[in-house]
Amino acid sequence: MTRPYNFSAGPAAIPAEVLEQAAAEMLDWHGSGMGVMEMSHRGKEFLSIYEQAEADLRELLAVPANYKILFMQGGGLAENAIVPLNLSRAGAVDFVVTGSWSQKSQKEARKYASEVNIVASAEDTGFTTLPDPASWTVSRGASYLHICSNETINGIEFHQLPNLKALGSDAPLVIDFSSHVASRPVDWSRVGLAFGGAQKNLGPAGLTLVVVREDLLGHALPACPSAFDYKTVADNQSMYNTPPTWGIYIAGLTFQWLKRQTEGSLTGVAAMEQRNIAKAALLYNAIDSSQLYVNRVAANCRSRMNIPFFLRDESRNDAFLAGAKERGLLQLKGHKSVGGMRASVYNAMPIEGVQALVDYMREFEQKHA
Ligand code: PMP
Repeated sequence: MTRPYNFSAGPAAIPAEVLEQAAAEMLDWHGSGMGVMEMSHRGKEFLSIYEQAEADLRELLAVPANYKILFMQGGGLAENAIVPLNLSRAGAVDFVVTGSWSQKSQKEARKYASEVNIVASAEDTGFTTLPDPASWTVSRGASYLHICSNETINGIEFHQLPNLKALGSDAPLVIDFSSHVASRPVDWSRVGLAFGGAQKNLGPAGLTLVVVREDLLGHALPACPSAFDYKTVADNQSMYNTPPTWGIYIAGLTFQWLKRQTEGSLTGVAAMEQRNIAKAALLYNAIDSSQLYVNRVAANCRSRMNIPFFLRDESRNDAFLAGAKERGLLQLKGHKSVGGMRASVYNAMPIEGVQALVDYMREFEQKHA
């Protein structure tokens, strides 16, 4: 069955193979007589699903042994509170503001941290640039420094994570990697904690992934809800309360799909990175070489996952979207706060989908020249 190409920013397209397998197993998982949604999270069937998913993710992202993988709930926005509840020690925290999501994060942290320092911001460029880490005014003794490593709305990505030690900061780096997790390898030597909702690159909404270095556990504020205390969650293998079992199962199938992907001699996330580089280059080249479309983000920080673009003649937006839908190119409308268009090209989007979009964009431009 061929499906339309779905450019949603999230919840987003899931590989068809994953959906087909989930459909085939819906009523009876592996001869157990139960669907996954109907199983006890403490039974041997679900425990095997959970253990496989965790092991596969650890392998795919090369997560070191001294980091815990937690499967939580609440999404990225809940983590904006859960991170300071666990890591701030009610002290000062540092933030780099590069777009809508890091802006939201720093506002929420003010409820829990005694001080929030904005050590760099790209607000003055309308969030089209990434402040050079060498210019960040990191503070002494901050409990952590937070960045959003891929800004889903503004289309800004850190292509390299900052080395805080080299900037004179001993703070652990916290990254919100919601919208580019598993799109490229992670340099864990630079990261203390990473969090992300699953609904873009890993599976369905309702599952939140947290990867946290062990020495950061056990410092939660007294007011932190037990179900959100990372140490409690880690000590109970993410089963202090009922985990999002369906989300873990679908993410697990996605991890197996990822492990099967190859590009030349590369496999898994390294293979995806090569594909994502090629997909993004194809679309940015089409935008930059046209008279009709424009993307204003500086070349060194353009996101490979979320590519916003505008029609120079905005009166044609509705016609563009209607024509796209007719050709099976879905959910291209930009975020309401910025307008225009946005193509999210996560791992599940094949290069053929990007090519179909580029072909349509050229056709539309010629028709309206
Ligand atoms: N951070 C980023 C980078 C996001 O893209 C999003 C969702 N689009 C969020 C946080 C918020 O996630 P949630 O809606 O799962 O709380």
